[in-house]
Amino acid sequence: MEFDKPVKRSVANSNPSKRFASVPKESIEGKDQLERINFYLEPQFGTISLDEAEDLFRQRLKAMSIILENHDVKSQEASSINHMLKAVKSDLFPTNCVSSLLLNLEQKRLDNISHFLARMYFAFQPECEAYRNFERRFLEIRLRELDCFSGQRLAHILEYFGFEYELASLEEIAELAKERYVNWTSPIDVKSTGNIFKVKFEHAIKFIARRSVGVKDGYALLTVKEIVSVICDAFDQHIEKSLVSARRALSLNPNVQHLYEGLDLVYKEFKESETERLRKLKQVQSGEGNPHSLDMSNIEEIVKQHYPPCMRYIHESLRQDHHLRHQARLYYITFLRNCGVDLDTSIEFWREEFTKKIPNDKFERDYKYNIRHLYGKEGQKKAISSFTCEKMIKDNPPGPVDKHGCPFKHFDDTHLVSMLKKHNLEQHNIDSILLAKKNNDQVDACCKYFKYTKGKDPSGTIRKPVQFYYESMHISTSETTN
Ligand code: SF4
Repeated sequence: MEFDKPVKRSVANSNPSKRFASVPKESIEGKDQLERINFYLEPQFGTISLDEAEDLFRQRLKAMSIILENHDVKSQEASSINHMLKAVKSDLFPTNCVSSLLLNLEQKRLDNISHFLARMYFAFQPECEAYRNFERRFLEIRLRELDCFSGQRLAHILEYFGFEYELASLEEIAELAKERYVNWTSPIDVKSTGNIFKVKFEHAIKFIARRSVGVKDGYALLTVKEIVSVICDAFDQHIEKSLVSARRALSLNPNVQHLYEGLDLVYKEFKESETERLRKLKQVQSGEGNPHSLDMSNIEEIVKQHYPPCMRYIHESLRQDHHLRHQARLYYITFLRNCGVDLDTSIEFWREEFTKKIPNDKFERDYKYNIRHLYGKEGQKKAISSFTCEKMIKDNPPGPVDKHGCPFKHFDDTHLVSMLKKHNLEQHNIDSILLAKKNNDQVDACCKYFKYTKGKDPSGTIRKPVQFYYESMHISTSETTN
């Protein structure tokens, strides 16, 4: 990236308490990232029906549920973030306002209304904190999606929020690095470091307390990632204050009573359906009492029809070699457990295959304990849940004789193409999967694989192989019963 010359910005308002004063519309026009993102500094005026208001509020609740449910997805995990946003978008098309391709003012307006409805409602709810977390996180991932994490775009947002800042020049960055004002590993590659923002130290107290940034002449020196966090903090403070003022203003206002009661009904209904959905999800993940428990008497057919590629590869390797090394066994035993295979059936399955190569007493001694342990019958007696895609993608890469891992991450293109052909995928679908792999987006590749093999998108982002299995089973059962 080319660096700008040192840019001095005049301060619109350096008083933090006034950072959210209204900004004249003209001052943000022409800055596309601002046109695409709502910062919810001012409410929308106009009239909508109660039904519309309830519908918009319902959509906001859905977004909140998706984002809070994926709270463990880190903002650096681009593919998981993208999939999470896809889920928000597909559920929330009318209000999502996160499209990076189109500028849709109607979406932006609806998004703004849904935000203010939720803000008004949660001001009086014990879930107020969760709501704030959601809005902060939502802003963070929207900034990320719009690629605002870089350069000038971010600078416009800082201006919008009234921050006093400067962009450090290339020479200055090199100088600061030499003096170790910035906590970079030395020697740094100044050219690829990206923009460094100098902001007043009081905006960066949390980084200073961690000693993760340098301070010079009253200014903290922040990288792009840190500056995004500062913006999100400022936004969060704004939401916190506005919740307090909403509480004060609205509790005295009898006119909002009717609207509030309507939203309250929507929220209670939503909460009930969410509790039921999470109960079912937990049941699926634990494999207990699930209607789609894996029928081992028909396993070969099920493998072909319903297994994700990672587990199918492990299963076929087991059938071929009558053995699997530790990591693949760990993945497959826990997968089978979460697919509803009980302990005795599982032990017999592994015994049948392993004893084609080793004596039964060796199996009893070296392998059976391990299966019982993973089922929570030995050691600390805590059953191990099946692994997530993220873990399988990031875990130790498989060596030449290992069978664990994610094919969309660990297979080379030739190997992957041959597997996909064997699974009867057409060439244009294979090309599309290869493109996702090239973009290092394994989850997208897997969702595509699901769609091309089942004829339907999965209902949400695939985060666990066991989810792939259940979704596939669910589709085939619904097709049979319809
Ligand atoms: Fe398996 Fe997940 Fe990779 Fe799909 S993305 S193949 S489910 S590890």
